[in-house]
Amino acid sequence: MRYDIRDQLSRRDAEITLEIDAPVPIGTDIEFVGNVTGWITLHNMGGEVAAWGHFEATALMECGRCLAGHEVPMSFDFSETCSFAQIDEPLAYTQVASEDERASIPLMDGDAVDLSELVRQLLVLHAPLRSLCRPDCKGICPQCGKNLNAGECDCEIDEVDPRLAPLRELLQ
Ligand SMILES: [Zn+2]
Ligand SMILES: [Zn+2]
Repeated sequence: MRYDIRDQLSRRDAEITLEIDAPVPIGTDIEFVGNVTGWITLHNMGGEVAAWGHFEATALMECGRCLAGHEVPMSFDFSETCSFAQIDEPLAYTQVASEDERASIPLMDGDAVDLSELVRQLLVLHAPLRSLCRPDCKGICPQCGKNLNAGECDCEIDEVDPRLAPLRELLQ
């Protein structure tokens, strides 16, 4: 996500808005479908660069109950503090710190502005931790493993606490 805009941003108070439509940067640990889209405005504050805008992306998540892959649309506004520092080691910033303690995000790859680290951190921050394929997902049968959304299985669900099972055998 490199943009040849360093010269247009070099003066204090210089500002530029970019339309974004690019592949998701690597290193999010999340699978995405399609591109990240939206817009971003960069504003030279003197020492640092203010960045704000709106991004959209579609995460491919596993259902928390039945494990089915399903698409989760993400759409969020953001406002971040960045700097003209070099992204010296891509993916070296794997620990995305909490909102309060985040340092300014480096923006430069050589002479070009590179938004990949910023976008990566924002997507990780806004991705859902857990998601269901549908609100009433029935999950999978713990005994036969059948996806119960496709219909009931033939298992008789054993309600007995497994720790009590030996006791029950004695009683039979
Ligand atoms: Zn599900
Ligand atoms: Zn079953």
